[in-house]
Amino acid sequence: MLVVMNANATPAQIEAVSARIRELKYTPHVIPGPTRTAIGITGNKGAEGRDSLRLMPGVEDVIRVTSPYKLVSRETHQQLTEFPIAQTRIGPGGCTLMAGPCSVENEEMILRCAELFMSRGVKLLRGGAFKPRTSPYAFQGLGDEGLRLLEKTRQKTGIGIVTEVLDVLDVERIEAVADVLQVGTRNMQNYALLRRLSQARKPVLLKRGMAATLEEWLMAAEYIAAGGNRRIILCERGVRTFSDHTRNTLDLSIIPVAKHYTHLPVIADPSHGTGKAQFVPSMARAALAAGADGLLIEVHPEPARAISDGAQSLDFEAFEKMLAELRPIADAMQVELR
Ligand code: PEP
Ligand code: MN
Repeated sequence: MLVVMNANATPAQIEAVSARIRELKYTPHVIPGPTRTAIGITGNKGAEGRDSLRLMPGVEDVIRVTSPYKLVSRETHQQLTEFPIAQTRIGPGGCTLMAGPCSVENEEMILRCAELFMSRGVKLLRGGAFKPRTSPYAFQGLGDEGLRLLEKTRQKTGIGIVTEVLDVLDVERIEAVADVLQVGTRNMQNYALLRRLSQARKPVLLKRGMAATLEEWLMAAEYIAAGGNRRIILCERGVRTFSDHTRNTLDLSIIPVAKHYTHLPVIADPSHGTGKAQFVPSMARAALAAGADGLLIEVHPEPARAISDGAQSLDFEAFEKMLAELRPIADAMQVELR
């Protein structure tokens, strides 16, 4: 942190700011300049109290120099995070595919999805048992029955399971079944949930809030890391903008930027990012080219009959076509589709 003094700040004001910094248990470093003085602040604590320096006489500005997220920052941890999930892994050198219906609807459809995916080298089935729906009257997911179907599907096919957690009370039951716990866009800043997941035994897929900045997203990840769970996957799923030609605006530009600031893997969800099945493959290809470490794609055996998010779900044929189109891009980028 750096306190920038006014050009006409007096020596007494500079000393008063330094004294206050010491009082807050930090160390001030006075840096005289030709037109003004700056005071660098060092110390290991959180940022408590430092913002109030802004109010002191003679202070022009207080500038943060290092990132507020320490554990997930690349500043402090250069090596990119990678870890195994079920029969695959996530991290550098690969693009990890996760696919499946928005919600688990019945045993047959979820099993058909898992069988197709395993036969095509897709090792993670993503399906919701607990669904965050905008309307309280809409289908809320099969709940524990959905978990049971996911577990059965894993036992039959060996596929890994990614599924959403809405409530701290459900975490224990969900982590008994899931290989990855998804936090949806609406819960990115549900700090009680993030704190609980920081104690979870499974990795967390943290979707970006629909109006969250990169810093807010990384601070949410920091909550999970701070409690001891370092296995975190970030997922861009589109943000709210004035554009209404797609359901959300898939912010692909955040992929290289996020990867610059954090060592965590960053994946993309072009399904929620576009809301329309016909545009999903183009954005999946673009996300891969932008450096996404994985893709989350909604797939349904019969999208026209899906209970939720049918409009953005690919049918099996479209999914296979998309995979075929991704392969040459993955080859060119020297990453493994896995
Ligand atoms: C989902 O993945 O089906 C979902 C509800 O996503 P989001 O939280 O991104 O809206
Ligand atoms: Mn969905």
